[in-house]
Amino acid sequence: MHGYLGRILRVDLGRGAISDEALNEDYARRYVGGSGLAARYLYDVLDAGTDPLGPDNPLLFMTGPLVGTSMTSAGRYSVCARSPLTRIWGEANSGGFFGPELRYAGYDGVWISGAARSPVWLSIVDGQAELHDAGDVWGSDIYAAQDRLRHSLGEAKARVACIGLAGERQVKLAGIANDHGRFAARTGLGAVMGSKNLKAIAVRGSGKVPLHAPDEFKALTNQALALLKGDTPSQSLREFGTAGYLNLAHMLSDLPLRYFQLGEYAPADALSGVDMAEHFLRRNTACHKCGIACGRETRAPAYNDDRVDGPEYETLGALGSLLMIFDLQAVIHASHLCNLYGMDVISLGGTLALACELFERGLLSAADTGGLEIRYGDSEMVFRLIELTARREGIGAVLAEGNAALAERAGVPELSATVNRLEVPMHDPRAYLGMAVTYALSPRGACHMQGDMYELDLGRDNGEDIGLVPGKRHENSFEKGRTAARLQAWRNLYNALTLCEFENPPPPLLAAALNAATGWTLAAQDLIPIGKRIVDVKRLLNMKLGLRRADDRLPGLLLKPLAEGGAAGQVPDMPTLLAGAYAEFGWDPDTGRPTAESAI
Ligand code: SF4
Repeated sequence: MHGYLGRILRVDLGRGAISDEALNEDYARRYVGGSGLAARYLYDVLDAGTDPLGPDNPLLFMTGPLVGTSMTSAGRYSVCARSPLTRIWGEANSGGFFGPELRYAGYDGVWISGAARSPVWLSIVDGQAELHDAGDVWGSDIYAAQDRLRHSLGEAKARVACIGLAGERQVKLAGIANDHGRFAARTGLGAVMGSKNLKAIAVRGSGKVPLHAPDEFKALTNQALALLKGDTPSQSLREFGTAGYLNLAHMLSDLPLRYFQLGEYAPADALSGVDMAEHFLRRNTACHKCGIACGRETRAPAYNDDRVDGPEYETLGALGSLLMIFDLQAVIHASHLCNLYGMDVISLGGTLALACELFERGLLSAADTGGLEIRYGDSEMVFRLIELTARREGIGAVLAEGNAALAERAGVPELSATVNRLEVPMHDPRAYLGMAVTYALSPRGACHMQGDMYELDLGRDNGEDIGLVPGKRHENSFEKGRTAARLQAWRNLYNALTLCEFENPPPPLLAAALNAATGWTLAAQDLIPIGKRIVDVKRLLNMKLGLRRADDRLPGLLLKPLAEGGAAGQVPDMPTLLAGAYAEFGWDPDTGRPTAESAI
């Protein structure tokens, strides 16, 4: 196979057995890789009775056919399993260098099943895999774990994906870290890794990805790289990181404030990426073959933090404006604590903000919190709650279950800012109404990476060739629903290719590169149908796991108009938008079920 190594590593932790399995070529051709391929594999295995934290829930690490090649930004990998947080399809992906290194070690993916009796870590070096006792790294933070395992392996350049204390304690907000502080953060898959007693996977390889037409491929990837030079959004990402969007987001009311209940608040501008670049940036960081380098390495002298990964725009919202904290150094420090323990900042911020809201409304009291007063704007309290959550101590044991569980416990599920139990990210659907479709139909619950309508409607995407045309952000129409669905299909293809969404080569160029890598003969117009097939298989799997059409909705909190700011008075018209999306996907409007079920 060109573009693929053709092998999946199977590791049964219960039996301590390791074997190679041939990649299913038919599945690869139809679902490409990453979370698309993993969903097709797991469709055959998962059912409603699978315990997300039990040994029968497989954990898959998957790459795509371009990963580890010279294609710009082709350095990501996906992690997939049934989510313990949402109990539906769980996927998370991360950049850095772990994905390419896994390919150089000889594998397209790793399938972890069962659970080890005591903590272990897995090494994969040039096709040789081995399990090791992890007793001496269990309990260590993500940075110490990566350093020690590289040392144990005697491979200074090994790439390590690992969990922190939160994953070990099966906190449902736990992610998986790699390459210092990159994270496959969402849907609690760090807890799945912890439930298997698997601390880490370390990979090192010297192989190459076999390409169908290497010279043509190289020429195409050079073209993709050249397009980034002089591209304004790319320049902004390089200079200011994703935080470069924060001031504009605030102006448009895309930046959530005070648990999604305020449309503007002047101090929020203090969290800007410009201020961060001027005062706290140490250097930019980049993933494999990235032509942008949006990653931030910062410092927060007030907290003696000398080297912090991030924060990203999402972190500044989730641990800043959502909690009414506008001190950049405090947010950098909170971000660092989450990194050390290995937790998803979006889900954690959404859960802590609900705790503040419940406390303000008298629905949570000091008697429930072990005497803690949980108020908006209190950064010291946030630091304390991060620690308690990661350790599952005191009120932290409740917060570790996530926002939806907290709202239910307080008797106010209507206050949960989640979709299908996944905490809403830092893009308000009242600012871009198409985001309502993205969130309501995202296969993993509320997720901004499954259809970035805020990028499309700002004119920053590059998809005219495949019907992705920028529109008005406050348009409530059937056609807007269709566009959002098309974009969701497109981004699901991206997640299958495991490409970074910040680098958007034109679809004809991407199709040509994919063909040169694999020997396929795809046209640009074939890409959206593949993306739709991937959305369909995730949808059908979710329906197997209990999802219903009635779950395609937004939380009530986001259907109330904001009184002020750039989205004042706007609310998404869900029936109209969803009708357009169902039509675009070809789903039954009554059941929400894909009608092309037999085609998966
Ligand atoms: S733009 Fe940022 S996230 Fe994307 S590949 Fe580059 S450094 Fe990684």
